[in-house]
Amino acid sequence: MLEEIKGIGPKTLELLGKISIETIDDLVRYYPYRYNIYSPSNILDATDEDTIVISGIITSIPKVSYIKRNFNRLSFSLETSNININVVIFNRAFLSKQLFIGKNVTLIGKYNKLKNTFNCSDIKLYGLTKTEVEPVYHMVNGLKTSTLTKAILNALSNKDNVSEIVPEYIQDRYELMSTYDAIKEIHFPTSGEKLKNAKVKLKYEELFEFMFKINLMKFKNQLFGDFVIKEITDEMVNEVISSIPFELTSDQRSAIDDIVSDFRNLRKMNRLVLGDVGSGKTIVSFIAIMLNLKCGYQSAILAPTEVLAVQHYENFISLFKDVRVELLVGSTKKKDKEDIINRLKNNEVDVIIGTHAILEDNVEFANIGLVVTDEQHRFGVNQRKALQNKGKCVDVLYMSATPIPRTYALTIYGDMDISMIKQKPSGRKEIITKQYSLSSIKQITDEIEAELNLNHQAYVVAPLIEENEETDLNDISKIADMLKQNFKYKHSLGIMHGKMKKQDKEDIMNKFKNGELEVLISTTVIEVGVDVKNATMMVIFNAERFGLATLHQLRGRVGRNSLQSKCLLISDKETERLKVLEESNDGFYISEKDFEIRGTGDLFGIRQSGDMAFKIADIRRDYRILLQCQKDSQEFLNDNIENNFRNYSYYHHIQQQLLNNS
Ligand code: ADP
Ligand code: MG
Repeated sequence: MLEEIKGIGPKTLELLGKISIETIDDLVRYYPYRYNIYSPSNILDATDEDTIVISGIITSIPKVSYIKRNFNRLSFSLETSNININVVIFNRAFLSKQLFIGKNVTLIGKYNKLKNTFNCSDIKLYGLTKTEVEPVYHMVNGLKTSTLTKAILNALSNKDNVSEIVPEYIQDRYELMSTYDAIKEIHFPTSGEKLKNAKVKLKYEELFEFMFKINLMKFKNQLFGDFVIKEITDEMVNEVISSIPFELTSDQRSAIDDIVSDFRNLRKMNRLVLGDVGSGKTIVSFIAIMLNLKCGYQSAILAPTEVLAVQHYENFISLFKDVRVELLVGSTKKKDKEDIINRLKNNEVDVIIGTHAILEDNVEFANIGLVVTDEQHRFGVNQRKALQNKGKCVDVLYMSATPIPRTYALTIYGDMDISMIKQKPSGRKEIITKQYSLSSIKQITDEIEAELNLNHQAYVVAPLIEENEETDLNDISKIADMLKQNFKYKHSLGIMHGKMKKQDKEDIMNKFKNGELEVLISTTVIEVGVDVKNATMMVIFNAERFGLATLHQLRGRVGRNSLQSKCLLISDKETERLKVLEESNDGFYISEKDFEIRGTGDLFGIRQSGDMAFKIADIRRDYRILLQCQKDSQEFLNDNIENNFRNYSYYHHIQQQLLNNS
């Protein structure tokens, strides 16, 4: 218990609570976020501007003068680097009793050579002979660093207050520092080398535990449900593939191979197809559905919106005949719905495509064998589970168009198997991307009009400026008016924004898809995944307001066939960052850059941010350790899962918790 630690009274306890320190473990693992490094300088080497650290002996009785309330001045002389200097420090009158002739002190501040005066900003009541490293903690008002470090020191006086998490044989393998020593070093550093090793140990420990949990989840997913082998022959695969009117890319082909081997395997499939926009993930899932059907099972495609569900439906029926496909969405008429539900139950429907309408309790399947979820990050875990629970042996295939570098995929999607599609279908041209400032509106409209005159279509995106209906609307309608005028009212424009009714949005979207509208102006509500092949122009206003990954996603709405497409980024600011998009059409490269610029924050919608909150590790900087931990924790799991981690109570506990929570 925290209050049993010497130096922690009720008041400190409360303050510690504010920085989420509730247990002794929290306390000792409240790591500093940086260090101050004090290295004593020779005062004669410093210029007037340098903030320096000096150490010396007091040579005069300190004088205190009170200037006004709450403002006082303390001065004394000091011998340092063999000269005598004057020292001035404000508001330290309370220290005067501890400062006497002959006392060794360390001072931080600036030295004015001309006046031979050291203007001191901080004073430490001891001499400094070598470099000293002082930890700096995130603090809360009222809590003193010294109180915190004393409490930590007291807690560390009992070695049992620190538990070793990394299994001993791994500890030995890498000759890691013990956790106790590492924690002590991190709070009370003794040398640069040791501090470095301490950090490595604590990062390893943190990432090992994280990867262990991910690997355990993966293991558990594979156990779920009954075991069924789908007997897929190579002939079946070839037959389905040869019915596709185009040549698959080799990445698509290898994703299909992955899926086939999952089907043939006793384990349940839990696979993520990760591919850039327009890389052709959908067809991969369709082929999986056809193979699943050949084994006698039903399939479902879960799409995040009605527009996407309809698109998949139309796409599917145009590619595959003799398959009983139905569409089930919110707007499906009640009578049709009942009919579809009945036929699903009686195994008279092979493939159901829809939105969360499919998830409703009254939707039952005769024998569902595969669930495909498109743009999976939009579905919560519970919704996915609801679908999985609709059958006994449901394989799950997720599709995501958020390309992330493999390293990060390994962590956030580490409990799934991953197939990456990096190539674009052949014949696609790179989308030409250009930046314009808003003042070039004439050129911008000319560029758009040039496309419209070729009978192509254009998207125009204007971001929500504020969470305010009025401004939002004004803004898009202003842009719409401006474009209409510049087009001399020759072209048809549609406006779509987040505040519109769902039905109205879908109507506009459908008109655009049918070609009734030539230009679609919208806030970012255009769906990820919408496929309008004839659209060749994407114009994004205030491009600086979006992350690179989002811009790339938006740009991916065009360039969806062999026509040359263009993307115009309109911005008066931040041309440097946007250059990344001019340079590259590769989502994986762009996401790498986005990570570099913004860190890991934003893209990880799928995992709760809490899951990714590390105390000391940083998956980007420490990815080598992460990769090692991935391997080591998997090996540890394989060796111990059968006896439930009998010799490792810490991991036994984690395992039990995970089992109970599902
Ligand atoms: P996304 O990966 O963004 O979901 P889609 O699956 O919507 O991409 O595919 C984009 C377009 O490319 C679709 O119209 C699809 O029919 C087409 N396509 C997919 N694979 C190929 C291929 N190998 N060759 C030619 N066109 C393809
Ligand atoms: Mg898609």
